[in-house]
Amino acid sequence: MKGIPVADRWFRSERLDDGVRLIWEHHLSPDVHCNIWFIEGRDRNLMFDSGMGVRSLKQELAFLSEKPVVCVAGHSHFDHMGGHWEFEERVGHAAEADIMAAPTCDNTLAADYIEPHHFSALPHDGFTCDSYRLKPAPLTRLVDEGDVIDLGDRVFRVLHVPGHSPGSIALLEEATGLLLSSDCLYDGNLLDELWHSNIPDYLESMARLKELNVRTVRPGHYDSFGKDRLKDLADDYIAGHRKPGCPND
Ligand SMILES: [Zn+2]
Repeated sequence: MKGIPVADRWFRSERLDDGVRLIWEHHLSPDVHCNIWFIEGRDRNLMFDSGMGVRSLKQELAFLSEKPVVCVAGHSHFDHMGGHWEFEERVGHAAEADIMAAPTCDNTLAADYIEPHHFSALPHDGFTCDSYRLKPAPLTRLVDEGDVIDLGDRVFRVLHVPGHSPGSIALLEEATGLLLSSDCLYDGNLLDELWHSNIPDYLESMARLKELNVRTVRPGHYDSFGKDRLKDLADDYIAGHRKPGCPND
């Protein structure tokens, strides 16, 4: 990766409405960097997903140290959980607890998806794709369908939405209709043929998601969208897996 400069700042953040911030690794191509969602609460703040973990989030973003942070993993792929090790409270689903505790480039997909052309700058001197490693980030709280993450004045309900991966979770704030969806739903090519993907599970998750009372989806990649687009994306996915000869399934 000779000739690629070292980044001065690695992260960018933007304050959106409803006390939500978007954080992203802006020297990574849009195909690879995930959306890290940060929600301000009265007693605690919430971070949903954490990026690749190649630079310290806390060192670069002072607001992450203002209050305790509940760091939730929407799932255990490298681009979503690489930074979890920095946070004391790490929350996720039991189905991916083993990966969070012992992440490798294979079990987190890094080996398949990190390539030099994804980087417009390097996170540090000497960085190479081959030398990338993930730090263990054992979960300190296991959550499942219906569990609650309470920030004091904001409450998020856990939805278990497997398919992309077995422990994929989304968080729904019922009071505002805000859905944090990680990789179970984004406006792009959805991945359902990974080593631990399951298409029947994905179909069930999509059928559930489209019935939710949602106002804004904050996804794991690409732009946010509303309820109508959620429904279209879910319907498209379901239609794409309809068996030939059964058009009304
Ligand atoms: Zn993923």
